[in-house]
Amino acid sequence: GLANRLQDTFNRLRGKGKLSESDVKEAMREVRLALLEADVNFKVVKDFVEKVRERAVGQEVLQSLTPGQHVIKIVNEELTALMGGEQAKLAVTKPPTVVMMVGLQGAGKTTHAGKLARLLQKDRKKPLLVACDIYRPAAIKQLQVLGQQLEVEVFSLGDQVSPVEIAKQALHHAKIHGHDYVLVDTAGRLHIDEGLMEELQQVKAEVNPDEILLVVDSMTGQDAVNVAESFHNQLEVTGAILTKLDGDTRGGAALSIRAVTGIPIKFAGIGEKIDAIEPFHPDRMASRILGMGDVLTLIEKAQQNIDKDKAMEMERKLRNADFTLDDFLDQLQQVKQIGPLDQLLGMMPGMNKLKGMQNVNVDDKQIGRVEAIIRSMTPLERIEPKMIDSSRRKRIAKGSGTTVQEINRLLKQFEEMQKMMKQFSGMAKKMKKGKKGK
Ligand code: GDP
Ligand code: MG
Repeated sequence: GLANRLQDTFNRLRGKGKLSESDVKEAMREVRLALLEADVNFKVVKDFVEKVRERAVGQEVLQSLTPGQHVIKIVNEELTALMGGEQAKLAVTKPPTVVMMVGLQGAGKTTHAGKLARLLQKDRKKPLLVACDIYRPAAIKQLQVLGQQLEVEVFSLGDQVSPVEIAKQALHHAKIHGHDYVLVDTAGRLHIDEGLMEELQQVKAEVNPDEILLVVDSMTGQDAVNVAESFHNQLEVTGAILTKLDGDTRGGAALSIRAVTGIPIKFAGIGEKIDAIEPFHPDRMASRILGMGDVLTLIEKAQQNIDKDKAMEMERKLRNADFTLDDFLDQLQQVKQIGPLDQLLGMMPGMNKLKGMQNVNVDDKQIGRVEAIIRSMTPLERIEPKMIDSSRRKRIAKGSGTTVQEINRLLKQFEEMQKMMKQFSGMAKKMKKGKKGK
């Protein structure tokens, strides 16, 4: 994928003491190819590479002590700018705030109406879900099931009343019952068509939404950009939700949509489950693409679910890379409350690589065994795993009801994890210094 290709290029750059113009040129060629291959719009690629090249051959870089790092920093900054720079938030208005979900069939409108309701609920808001897709069989039912699961009210008038009328009555209902957000789920089609656009325009005219969110499937690549342009022309979209970023997407849509259409990306969908949604942070997305992990998202997720002190401590330890097996155990327990383990690992520095490795088992059921192993270690062993020789390994295996092989595997994984954390924190410190020096 895009991240892997760019990482290879940057790993080569990182190692260099001094950069020549041809080093920069070569790296830019690679960046250009990687972006094109990831299905980023060619005009966007051209402008992007030009901007980075201009900055990268400047004095600032060539005179820097760590020119490789410096170029990476520039690419990071420009990628962030390309995706909109600042985080774009959901509209806040005098209640009820009306949000209309639009997009092609299968993009994820209904699912994300549910996910948004859940986010709003967590924020102590009272959302109302509105079933305006009267065409797709079982579309109303799908929304009702989501509503039940979330304990959020779903407004429906069946499939014999027009979407415009449903939306109108829903808004009235929301005002009477004190809902502060009205999430209107609309119908999609397989392709853009006039009938659909007309209907959406009528609904828009009726309820005057504060926010029209275009839901786009990021797996559709270049096509996503064309779809976004059509919807934007007809409806003046106020934001986008990029869905299925958890899939095997080449990432091009995320990079192109904002640059081509100007529509700010507000949320990212990262799975089928109801809480698989994140506010879209351009800077974090850029770091993720460049393979620097996403410590901040990780911390934020942790903070939502565990207490603040522990999260701060976790952040400090991640940054300083000085955690022990005790911390590891502690983290495993917290992780269990946060969510799917492999989703989380994908956000940790270096862990996206680990994830693909065979000897790392991210099966949630394995956590119990790992816990048992660490619990069978003495406090000293947990701080200084190097002291765990073969007789100690046998004792631990016996105590935890596991095997010596499992102990070996765990210790090896832990060692690799520590190594990567150290690498990352070294890099982060250097980048911080670079900033101060400016
Ligand atoms: P709609 O036709 O636009 O309302 O799309 P749906 O909300 O019904 O979603 C279509 C399919 O995509 C469903 O099977 C969803 O579970 C799935 N889906 C939606 N969002 C995501 C996502 O972010 N990641 C993944 N992996 N699947 C998603
Ligand atoms: Mg739907």
